[in-house]
Amino acid sequence: MDPAYPLITVGDPRLRQPALAVTDLTDGRVQQLIDGMLKAVVAHNGVGLAAPQLAHPVRVLVLASRPNPRYPEAPLMVPTVVVNPVILAYDDHRQKGWEGCLSVPGQRGQVHRYRQIDVEYLDRQGKLCRQLWQGFVARIFQHEYDHLEGQLFLDRLESPADLYSEAAYQALLG
Ligand code: ZN
Repeated sequence: MDPAYPLITVGDPRLRQPALAVTDLTDGRVQQLIDGMLKAVVAHNGVGLAAPQLAHPVRVLVLASRPNPRYPEAPLMVPTVVVNPVILAYDDHRQKGWEGCLSVPGQRGQVHRYRQIDVEYLDRQGKLCRQLWQGFVARIFQHEYDHLEGQLFLDRLESPADLYSEAAYQALLG
């Protein structure tokens, strides 16, 4: 992994800082960071990643769902770069589901997320986009958006009983 983009983990105070809006997408360092995020999400078998996880406190996340060893059932999508997201609306239906986090290694938890979410954001060229995400991708978005707010899925557990080790989670799946 590129040493310029270390993946930081729970306990590191940088994961708890709210991230700042990106003001200049023509800045080469921002574009470099985005390239690093797209590489890192694949290298670590993630389905999403937020810039604070690479110790960069800016409002950039990537959604990159695809089947992989950590998420065999994940739907395949074109990796999507989301800059300065604004949540416009979500439906009133929340679903409980499993999540893991590259910044919380070896753990899985069950958390509630909105089933559908309507978001406005900039793509990496600075074009204004609007997207309605549903199901697993909506869950990934909400998880990554929390990172921009300095939150982790651990904060959303209703009960400590909803937190599993990776091994216990794998045993549950059979
Ligand atoms: Zn995470």
